[in-house]
Amino acid sequence: MTNPTALRILTVAVAPAALAFAGAGSVAVARPSAVPVPTAAEEAQALDLATREIAVRSVRGEGNRTNEVAALIKDRLIAGGWAPADVVVTRRGETATLVATWAGSDPKLKPLVLSGHMDVVEAKRGDWKRDPFGPVVEDGVLYGRGATDMKFDGAVLVSAVIDLRAHGYKPRRSIVIAFSGDEETVMATSAALAEELKGADLVINADGGGGTFADGTDKPLYWLWDGNEKAYADYQLEVTNPGGHSSEPRPDNAIVQLAQALVKVGTYQFPPEQNELTKAWFERAAPFEADPAKAAAMRAFAANPNDAAPLAIVRADPDLVGKTGTTCVATMLSGGHAENALPQRARANINCRIFPGHSREQIMAQLKTVIGSDVVKVSDVTDGSITPPVTPLRADYVVAAEKAIHAAWGKNVAVIPNQASGGSDSMFYRALGVPAYNASPVFTRRDERFSHGLNERVRLVNIKPALTFYFNLIPDLTK
Ligand SMILES: [Zn+2]
Repeated sequence: MTNPTALRILTVAVAPAALAFAGAGSVAVARPSAVPVPTAAEEAQALDLATREIAVRSVRGEGNRTNEVAALIKDRLIAGGWAPADVVVTRRGETATLVATWAGSDPKLKPLVLSGHMDVVEAKRGDWKRDPFGPVVEDGVLYGRGATDMKFDGAVLVSAVIDLRAHGYKPRRSIVIAFSGDEETVMATSAALAEELKGADLVINADGGGGTFADGTDKPLYWLWDGNEKAYADYQLEVTNPGGHSSEPRPDNAIVQLAQALVKVGTYQFPPEQNELTKAWFERAAPFEADPAKAAAMRAFAANPNDAAPLAIVRADPDLVGKTGTTCVATMLSGGHAENALPQRARANINCRIFPGHSREQIMAQLKTVIGSDVVKVSDVTDGSITPPVTPLRADYVVAAEKAIHAAWGKNVAVIPNQASGGSDSMFYRALGVPAYNASPVFTRRDERFSHGLNERVRLVNIKPALTFYFNLIPDLTK
């Protein structure tokens, strides 16, 4: 997953009421008798599983131990009452997937999929302050590769499902835990799982979304969930030329022609666009923007995306521009073969992030129109990306997620729907028509986001609210 979008806040004071709710757990739950309160033993179990998983080096390449992570989870589920046959660990090349089924009482209902991944990004011991695969807890913080992406999240999710079963919950709709084994790299298992589970009703992915604490505190401010993502595309621009001696210039020069095309692409802006998710994001994120002019522009953009003045303000901010439409930027450049020769070839890569609802072909056609020259050859060189369709917003999910996060973290936490800029396993489900929402209940401080980076960590204050979140959400989606 990528880091949750950082809103540039926010010395914004948290209302005292919000502070009172922080950590109040299930006090705010509407049906206190129906929703269990996580016990200390359950919290300890979740942390224990997370710690054991982090200790296993599930990194792509030689010595990949993802199948051992799967075995840890399988053992827990079997101890929690799953029949061994209902927990399928499949070796897929050097990695593995896990699919665990808890059958619901109504076989006619399509299953709820709880999604995650077991692999992590490579981490070198020498670069880290602590051993990335030797998890440690210090001052209420768990350190190790996967602490945020996403072994802690996965362990809490699995533990919550086990706890629900122990508390006697009986789902009407089947619950399928589906963990991939190469999400951080080639995503072959991600695609395979989505294909296997394309008959699902809904996918909740713990790898993405997430909450933000007020700076330097454990006070929850706002929570994002991702309902969609932009598609990734690479296009190559290429100009070829017979070349020649540089003392005898021709009127056409491959480097100059490519440069002219790049200037056109660089100054072109795709039309502003909006969908339910981005409209809601701009409306609800605006209160957390510290700059009043920008906050006003965010609200105005939400009201009318075609209004030029607010659009210009929003598009000037690299954090916001991606939410206003398709973007394409030059990312690589090469050309020429000798200091004293006319270039025979010049090439550039244009990387695009396509707003949902457009195909790669459409965007390539638009680039050709913008460039307006037959000399520049444009080709789609995207490596293995897919273009998910627009995912509908499901009211049952929206209501259940908001209720669950408020039960977990307090009613004053702002809930902000988001369109992610990076991909996750969810895109494979969406591409097959299954709604998938990234909804990690874990909160982080903005200066402690080290997903994929050094010294990854998570605050243990998350365990109880995260379990509470699932104790609410999962029954609401399966009862
Ligand atoms: Zn991830």
